[in-house]
Parts: sequence; C-alpha cells; structure tokens
Amino acid sequence: MAKAVGTSRPRRQIHANVLVIGLGRFGKAIARELMKNGHEVLGVDTDEQIVQQMSAELTQCVKADTTQDAVLKELSVKDFDSAVVAIGADVEASILTASLLLQNGVENIWAKSNSEPHGRILRQLGVKHVVFPEKDMGNRVAHMVSGESLDYVPIDEDFVMVKAESPDSFNGKSLADLKIRSNHGVTVVATSKGDGQYQPAFPETIIQKGDVLVVAGQTQQVDKFCAIG
Ligand code: ATP
Repeated sequence: MAKAVGTSRPRRQIHANVLVIGLGRFGKAIARELMKNGHEVLGVDTDEQIVQQMSAELTQCVKADTTQDAVLKELSVKDFDSAVVAIGADVEASILTASLLLQNGVENIWAKSNSEPHGRILRQLGVKHVVFPEKDMGNRVAHMVSGESLDYVPIDEDFVMVKAESPDSFNGKSLADLKIRSNHGVTVVATSKGDGQYQPAFPETIIQKGDVLVVAGQTQQVDKFCAIG
C-alpha cells in the first residue's frame, strides 16, 4: 500500500517548491503530477538523456549526482519545501542522498523503497515518509484480482477505503435499515450506479441492485464486509 510512515507532514501548500531526485518511472510520475497541479519542480538525475527528456516538462532539470554534499549545497536544497528521493534500485545512492538531505536541513523527505530493509534504514536515518510503490500497488491489485473489491485504498496501518459491489442481500433496503455501522463496523461513504458518478451516502439512501459502494473502516471489518454475498 502506498503508505506514508510518520506523523508529521508539510503544511498543505497551494504552491509548493519540490525537489525530485531520480527521474525513473516513479520520479517522473511524481514530478509530472506536481507540475500538473501547479507546483514548482526541480528534477535531478545523473542520466543526461533523462534530464534532456524532462527539461521541457519541469520548472528546472539538472544533471547531478546527489550523493555529493557539494552538489546538494549548490542546489540550495534547504530552500525546498519537500524533497522526493525516487531512487530505488541503487540503495546506496538512495541512502546517501537521504542522509545528506537531512544533514542539509531538508525535513520533509519522501523516499521510495524497494524492500523492507531499505525502508528500515531510511526510517532509522530519520526520513519521515517512506513509500513502497511496488508492494503497495501489488497489495491493492491483489484485492481487485481476487474479486473482493473493485478498488482498495489503504488510508493508514489499519484503515482502508474500498469500492465494492453492493451485496444482493442489500437490494431495496436503506442504509439505516441495514444498520451497516452497528452490524458491520464500517461506514458507507458514497454510492454509485456504476456509472462513475458518486453521491454521498445518507441513512435514507436505498441500495439498488448493481450499486457500487465506497466503504471505509478498519481493515478486518472492511474485508469481512466485502465477503458478504
Ligand atoms: P523506477 O522504478 O522508478 O524506474 P528504480 O527504482 O529502478 O526506478 P533507480 O534505477 O535506482 O530506481 O533510479 C531511478 C533514477 O534515479 C534513475 O533515472 C537514475 O539515473 C537516478 N539516479 C540514481 N542514482 C542517482 C544519484 N546518485 N543522483 C541522481 N540521480 C540518480
């Protein structure tokens, strides 16, 4: 799951200034999404070709090796609101970069990890947000492939939000009749006719055959709810 580890996070900023180190698939996706949402992005990679390819899309793009302290100082990394370390395969480069960013006063670091030991070291260094994109997406897809849900989004360690088909036994009943919270310990947040349009759920919402429900709750309870026939 795409899990953020740690409690503190940057204040929500309308216009953030973000350093994205490593422009592989993950780094590129983050950098492009940030740009799309109106933020400033400085992309950094050691690969000349990648830097050339991305320079037209990002605010600024630089070819540099971020395992060098002098490079980070030259880039004035301390002036950025957040930094993303999107280096996964080269664990040494990832750890050195994260450690130097912390040393240079960058507090909000989001680092990609490809394995548990890699993630553990990043956390031990003091990286607040360690993400496991492959593992997290694998978990998410597993829930969809098995047919338990149409989508599965972990919100925290033990809290998920899922999109699931409503069980036939719910047809024609309101959420109040079904006593979803007291009977199943989950909350139906929204409903849809399966057309991609969602309405907020109310106690008087009547479930019809084929409705899609967005359900939130503790993992075990949501899993049980999704197994109702
Ligand atoms: P992805 O899965 O996102 O494509 P990955 O997990 O395989 O990437 P890597 O291949 O290790 O991760 O690195 C991603 C990018 O980071 C590459 O484009 C690589 O050139 C760049 N990179 C690696 N080391 C450094 C470094 N020291 N400084 C800057 N960029 C680096």
